[in-house]
Amino acid sequence: MSHSTKVSECPKCSSTELGKGQHSGHSVMSPINKLGFGSIIEYIICTECGFIIEGYVKKPERFKDTY
Ligand SMILES: [Zn+2]
Repeated sequence: MSHSTKVSECPKCSSTELGKGQHSGHSVMSPINKLGFGSIIEYIICTECGFIIEGYVKKPERFKDTY
């Protein structure tokens, strides 16, 4: 999965100093019916005001409904 991130400036403060971050430790997003098969969340963050502009789970396929 590759997503094109076109965000280049913060919508709140117009800063172009953006960074990437992710939860440390075990703070993962898990599918509601398959706890334990979660994915790390990666964020695009404004390094000026701290606004979280976008967030992605790294393994989106794990959230597909496979009944
Ligand atoms: Zn900002």
